[in-house]
Amino acid sequence: MALGLDLDFRRWPALERRELRAGAAKQDERGAEGASVAAGGAGAEPGLSERERRIAAALAEAAMPPGRFLEGAGAATARRLAGWLGSIPPHLAQGLRAALWAMELAPVPTRLRPLSALPLEERMEVLRGFEQSRARALRSLLRAVLTPLRFLHYDQPEMFQHVGCRYELPTVRNEEPRWLAQVTNGREVEEDLELECEVLVIGTGAGGAAAAYELASRGHAVLMLEEGDYHRRASFTGRPARAYRDMYRDHGLDMAVGNVSIPVFAGRAVGGSTVINSGTCYRAPETTFASWRGGMGLPAEFSSDGLAPYYERVERMLQVAPADPLHLGAIGPIVRRGAERLGLRHGPLQRNAPDCDGQGICCFGCPTGAKRSTDVSYVPEALKRGAQLITAARVRTIDIVAGRARGATAVLGGDTRAETSGGRAGPGRRRPRLVVRAEAVVVAGGALMTPLLLRRSGACLASGMLGKNLSIHPASKVMALFDERIDQWQGIPQGYQIDHFADEGLMFEGGSLPFDVAALAVPWTGHRYTELMEQYPHLATFGFMIKDTSRGEVRPGIGGTPLVLYTMNQEDVARMQRGIELLCEVFLAAGARRVLPLVAGCDEVNGPGDLERLRAQPIKAGDLDIAAFHPLGTCRIGVDPRSSCLGLDHQAHDVAGLYVCDGSAIPSSLGVNPQMTIMAMSLRAAELLSERLSG
Ligand SMILES: Cc1cc2nc3c(=O)[nH]c(=O)nc-3n(C[C@H](O)[C@H](O)[C@H](O)COP(=O)(O)OP(=O)(O)OC[C@H]3O[C@@H](n4cnc5c(N)ncnc54)[C@H](O)[C@@H]3O)c2cc1C
Ligand code: SF4
Repeated sequence: MALGLDLDFRRWPALERRELRAGAAKQDERGAEGASVAAGGAGAEPGLSERERRIAAALAEAAMPPGRFLEGAGAATARRLAGWLGSIPPHLAQGLRAALWAMELAPVPTRLRPLSALPLEERMEVLRGFEQSRARALRSLLRAVLTPLRFLHYDQPEMFQHVGCRYELPTVRNEEPRWLAQVTNGREVEEDLELECEVLVIGTGAGGAAAAYELASRGHAVLMLEEGDYHRRASFTGRPARAYRDMYRDHGLDMAVGNVSIPVFAGRAVGGSTVINSGTCYRAPETTFASWRGGMGLPAEFSSDGLAPYYERVERMLQVAPADPLHLGAIGPIVRRGAERLGLRHGPLQRNAPDCDGQGICCFGCPTGAKRSTDVSYVPEALKRGAQLITAARVRTIDIVAGRARGATAVLGGDTRAETSGGRAGPGRRRPRLVVRAEAVVVAGGALMTPLLLRRSGACLASGMLGKNLSIHPASKVMALFDERIDQWQGIPQGYQIDHFADEGLMFEGGSLPFDVAALAVPWTGHRYTELMEQYPHLATFGFMIKDTSRGEVRPGIGGTPLVLYTMNQEDVARMQRGIELLCEVFLAAGARRVLPLVAGCDEVNGPGDLERLRAQPIKAGDLDIAAFHPLGTCRIGVDPRSSCLGLDHQAHDVAGLYVCDGSAIPSSLGVNPQMTIMAMSLRAAELLSERLSG
């Protein structure tokens, strides 16, 4: 769940302290009751003071008033927010509290009263002012405070019932296959451990799991370490809130900052981001490989033909096939209708979910296990071939001796914050340490985390490229209201595509949203927001992503989180604008009643005139509603050690025996969803490593 925070919060905590002092001073006047309130006691939830709860309630009430049948938000929403803030990393909670205060004080210069003291109608006006503002900082601030409030208000069974959709799925019984005996839960380890293996693989997402499988298949003694937990089927309840908490990195709150705030999502679980991905499967296009060969001097094996044998093996393992038309939901026929009327190439997407029955919740974990994410494909297959896995094991450093990777040191127990506070898990308890000795180390923590781990370990620093060259495939979406029912909670969320503009770097691929997640995407505040939410059964969402030419950077952030910097260049902004226009056209051609482009300064596109106006509108990056799901390139392969971190065999230029097999090794934006390419390149790298170990 992305907050959209991009403000400097450092000065706000002081304000809050003043607020508490003021409260304490009043205590004498008000007696004991005042004392407990000022201290955030008597009934206050852990994450917010009483005053902050009042601010949150006032905001929620103005942003989400009652509709014809949906209840309005208010004090109960603020209570939920307080509880939720107690569960997220403290620096993020502090940022959100600062944003609440910023909202509270914003009307003071003009209305001489803080937001929570204004009558409801005036509060609504203030929020509308933020919403319509061309100042990105104000819209970001509003988004930051409203994102959790909206989610918490709509994440309730009664709200789901009101719009006639299912809240929770029946849980599937866990199976206990024999290979589970090779999995150790790091949370249950109480003492320091020392282990030896031949190859240590760090991370079990697309890259790590494929490499571990290949190496174990070739007879090597493989140990996988994974920071997240191994979620069995019973954990996949279809509840986004639970997935954000248990399966997303940093609760889904990581954010790229630059000329636009972009939430960047990644997984943290056995299976990595594949557990929460949409299951779309593409081979990278030859044009991308040609740019690697032409622009970066990579050899001929980096081509469609050269990588074909690896792609074929990945497709067999993932059981890739076109989405079943039976489970496309209403969005498939709608997009087909629009694309056909406009003469665009379209069709079902290739997916890795052979037994999918359209439960509609891929990005929050597939409840039936139909999606062949690596937790149900490569990881079990590696375990069956003798590999071992320790979960809740966060690798702190790669151990490098005389220029050679010799293993790694990890902290067991799952709480990443414990690791950053020197390995202490709480008062008096130290997290157990795991030291692994290995012949070779494969790092596969993903493009956000791998550069941080390598930097901590002093590896891949020579070129100055570590953490740089970040591409993210910026993505956006358009929403549209139809007379017919869409029911976007049913069917495959991302099962259909328009690939007509692939050569322009534009791919259109689904993106239906469950009710509580749609509450974050639906624009506006106040009555017109609630009115749209009440029409959720008729609301369609379709998205697209671009092959970006902008490049960002990942640096170490607060509390072990990545600090992601990304400034979108004008070429990419123009491509995003074209994507939005095209999608508006498709929806209009398909017969939409109202089309919502989610662009600041353009509320609706309901005919050719509006489309022309949107085309003519000078759009800045900060006017767009962007998210990213495909971070790549922060530790890239290359022929020249001066401009890359890894050789063509994925081995670090400056540390022997240290390999990187994940999205960070991919040298550029691909233009298509990356999981298959990451897996194919990992298989190739693992093959080369195996030959070296056996030679
Ligand atoms: C919501 C969403 C939807 C997506 N949809 C698609 C799609 O439809 N098709 C597609 O092709 N791609 C999709 N992607 C992208 C795709 O899933 C990723 O590109 C791919 O999984 C990245 O693989 P990876 O190996 O680089 O990292 P990941 O799969 O992210 O795995 C990295 C793993 O390493 C672990 N780790 C990190 N640091 C450490 C450490 N220090 N110690 C131990 N473990 C560590 C992490 O916990 C994580 O489990 C999607 C991604 C998201 C987030
Ligand atoms: S739509 Fe299919 S793949 Fe996605 S979660 Fe549902 S059953 Fe699994």
